[in-house]
Amino acid sequence: MSIDGKKVIEVLEKINVKMEENKAYLSELDAAIGDGDHGLNMCKGFKAVVEKLKEDDGQDIAGILKKTGMALVTNVGGASGPLYGTAFMKAAGCVSGKTEIDINDFGEMLYYALEGIKMRGRSEAEDKTMIDALEPALKAVREGISKELEAKEVLRLAKEAAFKGVEHTKDIIAKKGRASYLGLRSIGHQDAGATSSAIMLETIYQAFN
Ligand code: ADP
Ligand code: MG
Repeated sequence: MSIDGKKVIEVLEKINVKMEENKAYLSELDAAIGDGDHGLNMCKGFKAVVEKLKEDDGQDIAGILKKTGMALVTNVGGASGPLYGTAFMKAAGCVSGKTEIDINDFGEMLYYALEGIKMRGRSEAEDKTMIDALEPALKAVREGISKELEAKEVLRLAKEAAFKGVEHTKDIIAKKGRASYLGLRSIGHQDAGATSSAIMLETIYQAFN
């Protein structure tokens, strides 16, 4: 199964809707160990993405992802804007010239997106960030691909691994971002960015159902 640029835009529009639905929830999570703006940041960012893609003809997938990344970097004040922005721009880099992408491309995109976040955030797994959702998701995608599972099944395993990663963020100490100021007191709380990452992956899965 492969998808074209129009479908990529449709998925991004769905992510925008999902972020609106989860705005209060994400901000609540961030309020416990951060500054309470993560839901607002994600909504502002993806609203700008949808606005920017309004007139896009859907012919150039890398271009769509680049625009997405730019919109996030430009419109989100918080740490998550440049991090997610970098992720989408790095993902764009591995599909240049493509008019259709498949699950193998998605695996590559996720890998480069994650590398971009780690580089930009100087962060790694177990820091209690979005990486703790995205890295298990990448592992699941790679395993699914190697077992030659259907794309839909691979995406299901990816979002499930991401939500498991989100649960795990409750058990660990924040080492990056605002939550790291709390040290041990960050234990017991779920990371907001890991949650928005898992929601994004869930939306991608649902878009193929
Ligand atoms: P801010 O922290 O500036 O208010 P947000 O609230 O929008 O920005 O985003 C916070 C989320 O960003 C955190 O929950 C965490 O997942 C992620 N984050 C923060 N710093 C880093 C980092 N250095 N590397 C990776 N992710 C990070
Ligand atoms: Mg915040």
